[in-house]
Amino acid sequence: MSFSVSEDRAKLLAEPTELDQPFWDGLAEGKLRIQHCSIDTCGNYQYPFETFCFRCGSDDIGWDDTSGEGEIHTFVTVHQRYHAAFADILPYNVSVIELDEGTRIVSNVINIDTDDVKIGMRVKVAPQPAGDGRYALFFEKA
Ligand SMILES: [Zn+2]
Repeated sequence: MSFSVSEDRAKLLAEPTELDQPFWDGLAEGKLRIQHCSIDTCGNYQYPFETFCFRCGSDDIGWDDTSGEGEIHTFVTVHQRYHAAFADILPYNVSVIELDEGTRIVSNVINIDTDDVKIGMRVKVAPQPAGDGRYALFFEKA
C-alpha cells in the first residue's frame, strides 16, 4: 500500500505565506522545519507558526530542522466521508504527533493499516508530493 496526494486533496492544502515559507521549503527537502525560539532560556519549538514565541513572547524566533521523529500522542480513525476528496482513502487516521523536540503536530500517519496505528508508536516525517513542486506533511512508521 502506497499513499499519494490526489489532485483533489492537493487543492485543499494551505497556500504558503511569507511567514511559513521555510516550513514548505523544508518539506520539499524531506525535512520537518519549524519555528525555534532563539532565546537561550526558552528554546521553544512551535507549530503552528506566528511572529512571536508562544512560550516567552519574544519576536526573536528562527527556523530549525527537527529530527523529524516523534511518537503518536493520540489519534482518531476517520470512517465517515466528510469531503469527496477523501473518499478514496477511507478509513484514515488523524494523529497528534509529539515530536522529540516536544511540540505536537496534527497530521496523518500514512502507508499503514488503520488497525496498526497505536498510541506511542514511533513515527518519522514523510512529506508527499502534492503537485507544482509542493509537498504536504505526513508521517509514517519509523
Ligand atoms: Zn521563546
